[in-house]
Amino acid sequence: MLVVTGPSGAGKGTLIRELLRRVPEVEVTVSATTRERRPGEENGREYWFLPRDEFQRRIDAGDFLEWVEYVSGHRYGTLRSELGRIRDAGHLPLLELETEGALRVKEDVRDAVTIFISAPVEELERRLTERATESAGEIGERIELARRQLLQADEFDYVIENDDLGAAVDKLTELVRNLLAPAATMPRR
Ligand code: ADP
Ligand code: 5GP
Repeated sequence: MLVVTGPSGAGKGTLIRELLRRVPEVEVTVSATTRERRPGEENGREYWFLPRDEFQRRIDAGDFLEWVEYVSGHRYGTLRSELGRIRDAGHLPLLELETEGALRVKEDVRDAVTIFISAPVEELERRLTERATESAGEIGERIELARRQLLQADEFDYVIENDDLGAAVDKLTELVRNLLAPAATMPRR
């Protein structure tokens, strides 16, 4: 499986969307979350939006590969059933996770390939403000967390700087194509 991680606003969602258009073998797991749905999001497409008691029930049932409590007390987790669904379709699962969950998967899943998407913290703040999907308070919390997450970049297999979007998309695409090819050539750090 592939794991894409990095701070909020780094461009994970944007890069993944572009990757999917170029590499059809890749399919993104639909995470479960207790956070509010944003305008335009659909249950079962961006996330499975679960009430907190249902999320807890699925934790107790052992249904999650990993889960975390993120800023503002919202929970996010990867359902094991998502991996089964994607593999049964003959596709490669891609997980988009914050860094704590990504490190947990790296530890637990030997052949997971982890990719950290990075950008300077001032730029993250600018992008989140412009994206305007969270309140000023929550953006502040995400930025505080981002400062710590940026220090963890070296713990992942690959780091992609998302400065020029086109160049970052090309790098991610090349990396994933190399991983899918029988003779992967890109050296792993
Ligand atoms: P994440 O999923 O990591 O939180 P998003 O993909 O939602 O980040 O990107 C955050 C915001 O920054 C979005 O509004 C997106 O359009 C914008 N963005 C993404 N990549 C770049 C880039 N290279 N340069 C400028 N803006 C970008
Ligand atoms: P957002 O609220 O912006 O959609 O996501 C907030 C953060 O949660 C992002 O950094 C995203 O990568 C992370 N995230 C989304 N789904 C999961 C998940 O299933 N597990 C973990 N650990 N993090 C997730």
